[in-house]
Amino acid sequence: MAQEQTDFVVVGAGSAGCVVAGRLSDAGYKVVLLEAGGKDTSPWIHIPMGYAKLYANPAVNWCYESQPEPHLNNRRLHQPRGKVLGGTGSINGMIYVRGQPRDFDLWEAGGCEGWSFDGVLPYFKKSEHQERGADKFHGVNGPVWVSDLPSTHPIADAFNQASVNLGAPENPDFNGETQRGTGYVQVTTKEARRWSTAAAYLRSNLGRNIDVRTHVTVKRIVLENQTATGVEYLDKQGHTHTINASREVIVCGGTFNSPNCWSFQASAIPRIWKVSASRHSTICPVWGTTFRTTSALGWSTNLPSR
Ligand SMILES: Cc1cc2nc3c(=O)[nH]c(=O)nc-3n(C[C@H](O)[C@H](O)[C@H](O)COP(=O)(O)OP(=O)(O)OC[C@H]3O[C@@H](n4cnc5c(N)ncnc54)[C@H](O)[C@@H]3O)c2cc1C
Repeated sequence: MAQEQTDFVVVGAGSAGCVVAGRLSDAGYKVVLLEAGGKDTSPWIHIPMGYAKLYANPAVNWCYESQPEPHLNNRRLHQPRGKVLGGTGSINGMIYVRGQPRDFDLWEAGGCEGWSFDGVLPYFKKSEHQERGADKFHGVNGPVWVSDLPSTHPIADAFNQASVNLGAPENPDFNGETQRGTGYVQVTTKEARRWSTAAAYLRSNLGRNIDVRTHVTVKRIVLENQTATGVEYLDKQGHTHTINASREVIVCGGTFNSPNCWSFQASAIPRIWKVSASRHSTICPVWGTTFRTTSALGWSTNLPSR
């Protein structure tokens, strides 16, 4: 079994993993970034309207399904998650709306030091290239491009106007003073192409020292004395490799797959809870029990041809 050494191992080259790997490599560390999916070469990833071609496409998507949902006539719901460089950020809707300030403040109040809205705002600004320019809430010169929609549709314009007529405030910036109101969102595109964190952090100069490996699936976090020291992964041919991290293993496998990386060694989990004081390997005992996701209601209309 081959073994090698690096400073940091990052599991998953999705929205988060690309940022983490990019910033660490920029700080001079050796980083190995492991991604189960392939490269983001499909043109449908880069053409914003290609989104519909990716939503249920197993070439770039884990295509999970929920359990039968008792409140939805026991239907199983499709749960798309990206399996490609850029992760779900390569198949998502590109909408750039940050969380509610109050949610961040509640996280800090709950014990997450530094996670208040005022605490995270400088990082949002640092990451951003806002095409409208910098202001109190926005930054320029960051790697993540945030753009206005290149065009709008008369039906959407009419919907917005109707909302204003009914008393909703017009809101030109959902990342500004308030998220209340009606208007158009901004999107993470650059010159009308999707601008995932793979584009922003791996292909810019930030990502120059990262060893990115695609089609490799992490099966196990290696623990020594309750400290994560590396990972075991399978390559495309099914061969097992171990890679050691002298600094840290950072798991960015997404909502479903991050816990999965641990559950491959389910027997280790209760042991890890007991050492929650250790900064190295901490798993929250409520993991997975508070999962929440968005429900989307689709609406399509057949218009008669003239
Ligand atoms: C259909 C859809 C539309 C969305 N639209 C928007 C939107 O418009 N705006 C918005 O802000 N958010 C949107 N989201 C949410 C947003 O995309 C996600 O919250 C975000 O991408 C999650 O980032 P992540 O880094 O946690 O996970 P991901 O981006 O999913 O990255 C996880 C990566 O880890 C890899 N991985 C997993 N397990 C392993 C393993 N064992 N070994 C190696 N690699 C592994 C995966 O293949 C993946 O590439 C949408 C989500 C969905 C599903």
